[in-house]
Amino acid sequence: MATSSRVNKNGAAPREMLNVKNPLTLEVIGQIPVTSPQEVEDAAERARFAQRAWAALTIQERAKLLQNWGDLLWERQEEAIKVIRRETGKPDSGAFLELLVVDSVITYYAQNAARILAPKSRKTQFPIIQTAKVYYKPRGVVGIISPWNYPFLLPFMDLIPAMIAGNTILLKPSEVTPFSAEYGVELMVEAGIPRDVIQVLHGDGRTGAAVVDHVDFVAFTGSTEVGRIVAKRCAERLIPYSMELGGKDASIVLADADLDMTATGLLRGAMENAGQVCISVERAYVEEAIYEPLVERICYYAAQMNVGPGDGMDVHMGSMTNTVELERTEAHIADAVAKGARVIVGGKRRPDLGPLFFEPTVLVDVDHSMDIMREETFGPVLPIMKVSSVDEAVRLANDSQYGLSASIFTRDLKRGEQIALRLDTGDVSINRTQMAVGTPSLPTGGQRASGVGRRNGPEGIIKYCSTQAILIDTMIGQKPELSLADPLTLNLVKTLRVVRRFLPFI
Ligand code: NAD
Repeated sequence: MATSSRVNKNGAAPREMLNVKNPLTLEVIGQIPVTSPQEVEDAAERARFAQRAWAALTIQERAKLLQNWGDLLWERQEEAIKVIRRETGKPDSGAFLELLVVDSVITYYAQNAARILAPKSRKTQFPIIQTAKVYYKPRGVVGIISPWNYPFLLPFMDLIPAMIAGNTILLKPSEVTPFSAEYGVELMVEAGIPRDVIQVLHGDGRTGAAVVDHVDFVAFTGSTEVGRIVAKRCAERLIPYSMELGGKDASIVLADADLDMTATGLLRGAMENAGQVCISVERAYVEEAIYEPLVERICYYAAQMNVGPGDGMDVHMGSMTNTVELERTEAHIADAVAKGARVIVGGKRRPDLGPLFFEPTVLVDVDHSMDIMREETFGPVLPIMKVSSVDEAVRLANDSQYGLSASIFTRDLKRGEQIALRLDTGDVSINRTQMAVGTPSLPTGGQRASGVGRRNGPEGIIKYCSTQAILIDTMIGQKPELSLADPLTLNLVKTLRVVRRFLPFI
């Protein structure tokens, strides 16, 4: 991404523009105007005004509008896939996956939001005399700030529950990939969603910072470094936030794992989106009994990967999106090799396919002195480390500043679940990678440097609401009283204290 200035027709101050590039050619495919801080403020005001009417609709009415949008998207999927591919360089299957996940998130919240956000009765100090309920009210205007690696999936999977809960949205997509968000939002307007309910604001961190300054909640997805800056500003403004940040996800392979299913599973998990996934398999720990045959199978399947810029669902891996990630991938491989690692598959650029193509790469003889086992690589690399026991694998998997997602391969499903509980991550998938995040009923998200808060599941919509507790006292059996501890109240409290030992539901 680069910016340029364009003089307005009336000769007024030049308008800053984003130049968006196609990673397959590095040619500029379009320009989009940068939203100024004043325009962000104006958009926030419109969003705040629109929120009243939007929140006055029922959850079902809002969900129906989003389902209409989902249906339109499903009809236009070929067009949507083209938009996503043009600014990311990912293959058809990767772009389709973005649409598929968003569609399943719409279905989940359309079917469950009304139940999750229904007022909930709670116990009171004095049963019968008092009743109480918790209500879930929209926070107001929600800011969604998103990265470039899943330019459709990430913003929309986060804003669907926010909108269904009754919030209006300021969406700041990545400056690298603004057209996917722009496309999705224009389709929302076509589906009947009022324009000011969801507005897209373009630009780099300056636009993002202006959004943070004007909203009531921030759902940020991006790097840990920028997440910290955004969290600080949210703290200054005393507004809540969720942070979906970087990862260094581990996969643990037990000695009883199915060789072929594990080899293909690991390769899919490491190479999906050319490794540019927060929940990519960035390191694998394999029990020594299965290590040699598994590495052989991984080499076998890696050699069959179809990498290129072509169309069709049988292309397994496309281009990387940015030079920065490509260069970091090379630097991590070079650091590992200098410290004793061996590249057994790939390891090189593929300029014959396009300027940002990099081969699916497998490394062995790696250890935790290497950047590739400790820093987020964000490239198509699978480093594999032999371990002598499950305990060693768990210790190494947890030896990270990050704690986003993880996976375990084993035929012993019960044991796999027990081992999963020992991993310090927001989710774990067994015999699959990344699947928990693709399951909208499950809350997922990070710990430590991987973030704060959860997306999806009940947690992923409740975060967009402020709770209001309402207590009603019927005044039954009460007299006017100035003391806080009158004899009647004291007797009732003492009685209830004993009764609740035997009847805890009271
Ligand atoms: P980034 O942090 O550079 O940018 C993310 C977004 O923040 C962009 O829209 C950017 O313009 C905006 N931004 C930058 N500075 C800002 C500021 N001061 N205030 C407000 N907004 C600001 O990340 P990226 O390079 O676009 O994405 C890659 C990173 O995202 C990786 O670290 C990856 O792991 C992470 N990621 C995390 C998840 C997750 O769910 N945990 C998902 C995808 C990507």
